[in-house]
Amino acid sequence: MLVSITSTTPDATDLGYLLHKHPERVRSVDVGFGKAHVFYPEAAPERCTATLLVEVDPIGLSRRRKGAQGQGLEPYVNDRPYVASSMLSVALGRLFGSAMAGSCETRPELVDRVLELEIELPVVPVRGGEDVLRRLFEPLGYDVSCSSVPLDESFPGWGDSRYFAVVLKGSHPVRRALEHLFVLLPVLDDRKHYWIGQDEIEKLLRRGGDWLPEHPDVELIARRYLRFGGLAREALARLSEDVNDVDVVDEQHDRAEAEVERPLSLNEQRMRAVIDAVVAAGGGRVVDLGCGEGRLLQRLVAEGSVSRVLGIDVSIGALGRAEKRLRLDEMSERRRERVQLLQGALTYTDARIVGFDVATVIEVIEHLDLERLDVFARVLFGHAAPATAIVTTPNQEYNVHFDRLGPTALRHGDHRFEWTRSQFREWAASISEQYSYVPEFFPIGPEDQETGPPTQMAVFRRVAEAKP
Ligand code: SAH
Repeated sequence: MLVSITSTTPDATDLGYLLHKHPERVRSVDVGFGKAHVFYPEAAPERCTATLLVEVDPIGLSRRRKGAQGQGLEPYVNDRPYVASSMLSVALGRLFGSAMAGSCETRPELVDRVLELEIELPVVPVRGGEDVLRRLFEPLGYDVSCSSVPLDESFPGWGDSRYFAVVLKGSHPVRRALEHLFVLLPVLDDRKHYWIGQDEIEKLLRRGGDWLPEHPDVELIARRYLRFGGLAREALARLSEDVNDVDVVDEQHDRAEAEVERPLSLNEQRMRAVIDAVVAAGGGRVVDLGCGEGRLLQRLVAEGSVSRVLGIDVSIGALGRAEKRLRLDEMSERRRERVQLLQGALTYTDARIVGFDVATVIEVIEHLDLERLDVFARVLFGHAAPATAIVTTPNQEYNVHFDRLGPTALRHGDHRFEWTRSQFREWAASISEQYSYVPEFFPIGPEDQETGPPTQMAVFRRVAEAKP
């Protein structure tokens, strides 16, 4: 994998001072997952190019990764050696860390000098395609050109690969351009980071603190860079002075991510699976318990077979965002009558949730204390007693696929527990028996042979009471 940085501002060879690497020498460093080399294919006063080449050792890399192995040959034969990925970002940090930090003892006046730069990335995986690439780099002032890399040049009929050849042109101090690459390469990468570290937020703040808060896609960048909601939320809070903005940013993010990651997002797959189950159950009056920011409500409202929608959540903040998302104030009178949001807790019986055809409880039970689950089951199955209840929760077995999580870690800071498939089935079976329901189980998201899917769903149908 490689990246080339060219300066065309005379004297272009100043680049050598800035990068702390002498244009006439090749420098090689071990970066843990392979070797990185810096060299200068051209070094003239009008044009000087520094190239960082990283040779990845996929076998060594795979051996060092415990717990999260791919299937079959995948850990050994993959695109990692060739594409500009999050690993290239790590190598940039290792080789140009002091340049990024703005240290240049011999020529300190160069550090903040704006240079005409060309950055060439011959093979980049771009999650979200050209649109995302432009959204990330154009607001930073780059002129972006990109072309798809064919799968195989000798067989044009095979079409294009999912990789792009990218050239970025812009005027920046070198350190700033390095920061842009350092933060945005992992954001473009469509595979999870392979490294594990608690210092990821610090890195993001250190490398992006000067330019990231103003970036229109700051939330997408933080989410993808940090991969997990909790960390991203904290980083966003620290990037923006006013913590209240985070909610707004979060909401914008949700929309941006929903648009960009439609084919990939687990959330999207979950929403579709739940909507399908609601429709299969016949729709009618639906109550969404723990509705959060109303992602499901929004879809329920648009569903023809659903006649009434009630969202309940304990969090006023979440309900406020749901109201905005649903644009309740702009809704026609007729639609408005079908939708309602109420504050309430799932651990108290509540007459307002009785009389519904379907109840949905999406990614909520894991937020309840285990010892409160019995009460929740009584409230839902014993008291509200919908004809159909749809419950989803993370499948804990799948967590080994998230490098960032240790073997016992949970996916979200507020999760009280995460269940394996058998734990979920056991719970579902026992309450079904107690309250006369029949459960059926469905996977959501990509199903792994050993661990199963990332999300598990149970659809409970109430057993019809025998007529007297
Ligand atoms: N169902 C939504 C939100 C899931 S997050 C979605 O899929 O997007 C979990 C939600 O459960 C949060 O909005 C939280 O406020 C809510 N919640 C947690 N404990 C609750 C309780 N005891 N009563 C009601 N809502 C609760």
